[in-house]
Amino acid sequence: MDVMVEGPRAAQVASMMQEREIPFAVAVGDVAVLIDKEQGSSFSTKKTTAMVRMTMDWERYHRLDVIYEFMENLQKEFPFLCAVISIGQSAEGRDIKLLKISNGNPNNTGVWMDGAIHPREWVSISVVTFIADRIVRTFNDQPASVTNKDWYIVPVLNPDGYEYTHTTDRMWRKNRSRYGECVGVDLNRNFSYGWGEKGEEGSSDDPGSIFFRGPKAFSEPETLALKKVILKSGVDFKVFLSFHSYGEVIIFPWGYTSDACPDYVELLEGGTAMAKAIFQESGHTYKVGSTKDLMYYAAGTSIDWSYGVANVPFSYMIELRGKKHRFLLPSEEIVPTARETMNGVLSLLDFVDSRCRGTQSK
Ligand SMILES: [Zn+2]
Repeated sequence: MDVMVEGPRAAQVASMMQEREIPFAVAVGDVAVLIDKEQGSSFSTKKTTAMVRMTMDWERYHRLDVIYEFMENLQKEFPFLCAVISIGQSAEGRDIKLLKISNGNPNNTGVWMDGAIHPREWVSISVVTFIADRIVRTFNDQPASVTNKDWYIVPVLNPDGYEYTHTTDRMWRKNRSRYGECVGVDLNRNFSYGWGEKGEEGSSDDPGSIFFRGPKAFSEPETLALKKVILKSGVDFKVFLSFHSYGEVIIFPWGYTSDACPDYVELLEGGTAMAKAIFQESGHTYKVGSTKDLMYYAAGTSIDWSYGVANVPFSYMIELRGKKHRFLLPSEEIVPTARETMNGVLSLLDFVDSRCRGTQSK
């Protein structure tokens, strides 16, 4: 677990840990330095930020309004390919916007991509928007495995949490719904499949915990919005990708149990195709395995639900860069991370099409 403490309290916390014989290490000495670096040198004073009118790029991290404007502009520029749809409102009433990319062929299968279900994982948004932008702008040069898909892309699944990481707490993980004195549900523990399994190891029933699963499955408007799109859009989804950071791992179901899922080997192969393409692009080594193999029990996750309930055969959670800076990935690493990930995603689609070809006519 990562804990951030104010500078003057660091020594006090360290001695508390020592007294209780809890092993610990200081991961980042001064987080303020990293935060400055994360946004690049031109962002080191608040004054500069307020005065500059921002438009979308992948040189820095952006606020929600800039990301939503980027989606609307893409629709205006490519009206025959793009549609922006609000799929619901967050707990605080913000729109959750989806970008659909499609050539309108009724035989297309579906690909889902989301970012920022955990809002502090900023680079997930950059990667998802980068891939969307590239696909749209180079659509006619893309292989059939890209153009024969309907792409459903939600760059910011948790808009309230995301804004909160900019205004108040850079390390916020949950959404912003109120439960008594406490705020927020871990949306990636709020899905119905395996919800609440494995007790406190898989999620938490304590509203004060960062892993709070909510009072019941799909108690939150953000998870409910995702569920409705997947189940009601009438598209045959073959791929579900949820982007997170950090750790450089590609993980697949199950998270609620250590048992292998029925398609373990297929999913391992698809994940390996992604990892190989990433390695070829950048030399970064992403590990591949089930949630419990590589990390820990996680019950009520979106990928267990998409695979187990919505029957999306290739469901993955991708933990992006980076190991050293953790959640605070420096802005100059955004483009390399996005490029390697896009390479991975395209490679997965080739793999999926080669596997699904036999069943496509059904
Ligand atoms: Zn995450």
